[in-house]
Amino acid sequence: MGMQPWMAMRSMSRDASVAEKTLAPGTRRRVLTYAGPYRRPIIAFLAVVVLDSVLVVAVPLLLKRLVDDGVIPKDSGVVVRLSLVVAAIAVLDAILTVVSRWYSSRIGEGLINDLRTEVFAHVLRQPIAFFTRAQTGSLVSRLNNDVIGAQQAFTSVLSNVVSNVVSVALVIAAMASLSWQLTLGSLVLVPVFLIPARLMGRRLSTLAHRQMTLNADMGTRMTERFNVAGALLVKLFGVPAREEAEYAERAGRVRDIGIQISLNRSIFMAVLTFVAALATAMVYGFGGVMAVAGTLSVGTLLALSALLARLYGPLTSLSNVRVDIMTALVSFERVFEVLDLQPLVAERPGAVDLPPGPLGVRLEHVAFRYPSADEVSLASLESTSSGDRKAGGPVLHDISLEARPGQLVALVGPSGAGKTTLTSLVSRLYDPTEGTVRIGGLDLRDVTLASLRDRVGVVTQEAHLFHDTIRANLRYARPDATDAEIRSALEAAQISGLVDELPEGLDTVVGDRGHRLSGGEKQRLAIARLLLKAPDVVVLDEATAHLDSESEVAVQRALDAALAGRTSIVIAHRLSTIRQADLIVVLEKGRVVETGRHEELLASGGLYADLHATQFATTKNGSHAEPALDIA
Ligand code: ADP
Repeated sequence: MGMQPWMAMRSMSRDASVAEKTLAPGTRRRVLTYAGPYRRPIIAFLAVVVLDSVLVVAVPLLLKRLVDDGVIPKDSGVVVRLSLVVAAIAVLDAILTVVSRWYSSRIGEGLINDLRTEVFAHVLRQPIAFFTRAQTGSLVSRLNNDVIGAQQAFTSVLSNVVSNVVSVALVIAAMASLSWQLTLGSLVLVPVFLIPARLMGRRLSTLAHRQMTLNADMGTRMTERFNVAGALLVKLFGVPAREEAEYAERAGRVRDIGIQISLNRSIFMAVLTFVAALATAMVYGFGGVMAVAGTLSVGTLLALSALLARLYGPLTSLSNVRVDIMTALVSFERVFEVLDLQPLVAERPGAVDLPPGPLGVRLEHVAFRYPSADEVSLASLESTSSGDRKAGGPVLHDISLEARPGQLVALVGPSGAGKTTLTSLVSRLYDPTEGTVRIGGLDLRDVTLASLRDRVGVVTQEAHLFHDTIRANLRYARPDATDAEIRSALEAAQISGLVDELPEGLDTVVGDRGHRLSGGEKQRLAIARLLLKAPDVVVLDEATAHLDSESEVAVQRALDAALAGRTSIVIAHRLSTIRQADLIVVLEKGRVVETGRHEELLASGGLYADLHATQFATTKNGSHAEPALDIA
């Protein structure tokens, strides 16, 4: 199981610049803590690797004895015995190869598993702000590539470094025991060999790095153009010929670098083979002369040349050991970077559950600005590496309002006024910068996240469904919901008719790549999900823009069911909701400018009256009858 040239190549294609990187203090020790649980398999693995290297050296030594003690004295008994030993070694070697693979995959896959699950759980605990900043692509690649990179480099360092060091040492020792003169002679060529190996390693890694970038460039273009939204844009605006030409240019660069890399590799391989052959020729020449003179046995000569063949491969990969080790450590470091992100919204030790029974919501002098990228994310996970890392301005100023248990508070105001932001403070997607949000009298920062998720239900404007069956999507809110409960939630949400019409009913797969639902249908499913959860507080963003009048009525009924008897904070777009509201809060530029009930606010002739005249009344001329407009 000697070092294969291609294995040396693999380590050559790592990025050499990592060797110059400085690591965060403690990274090495931290990596070792991950290896800790695998201490026993690691020891067993190393033992197997060392044993295997010993076997590699044993065969040429047996060849020497076979020639010197068997062939030359014409003792076929010795020849047969020794060749049986070589056969036994072959069997043992095969077994050891499998065993060492088994150990290294147990260690490697175990390590991946540990890191992966830890990173996944940790990322999900991050506040929503993290996800709005981080690019999903780089996040997923961190989860996949870096975790796998860390593992691969870990096991390859473990096996290659150890087995190569042991092999080189044993081969040199064995050669020296046979003939120290010839050993010294063949080692003279080692520097001649190592210098080009290092240079070539550096060149190949630069090329490999560039190849990765070019590949990513090409891939990004493809994913961007192949998703529905991108493809649509290309169809509507794109010039197909231009798209083709641009793609062809990127693909062309990938082709060119591929050719360059394989040319460099073959030159390197040629040099490697050439130097090794030169050393062999030297052993043949000098050793042959010594054999003729009788100072060296024929068996020794054969053994030396066989050993020499096992020297240069391991030496090549050892010339790049530093790069290997650093690659491993840097991958680990990138994973640690994610693990070290402290979630901004976290549960305080000693947090309590919300009290049972109806809950009121109160905001006391709440101010808010969105966290800066530095507070929530990693620069390396974002596409914009510079700029935009500073905090934005305040979005909400000194907001106080109260929804007593069972009350409906409607938020209205021009777009960008801060309505959505305010609702995300109520569900604690963010914490306020100043002031307090209370539910059931408790500061949200003192409440357990589990009870908050249990008691506060949210329906967003763009209701999201996972790529899964309708049943699974609904049960996401309450895993123990029975089919009967799901049915009645669907009925209350005015969507059971549609589900019944679907060929597979509750088992129909929905979501991005599943059965296509309209915006209104999705929202009604989201309402059914909310009803299953039966929260005491509802935070809801009404979306009416894209609904036809039929689903408008259905959504209205569904909303009524969702809000009935619960404390509700609703971003209201329809007059019927607003008229029902116990309190209308009019927001403008992050401030409460008016509060009151519909008639009061109309009478006072302020912003609400303006909005009413423009925003709500424009639908009067629209294509569908706005049910509440008759009061206007
Ligand atoms: P509304 O719901 O009333 O239309 P929003 O609450 O969505 O208003 O937005 C209020 C302000 O906050 C806007 O100026 C918007 O640009 C800003 N904003 C919204 N979301 C974010 C975010 N994730 N990061 C930074 N600023 C944001």
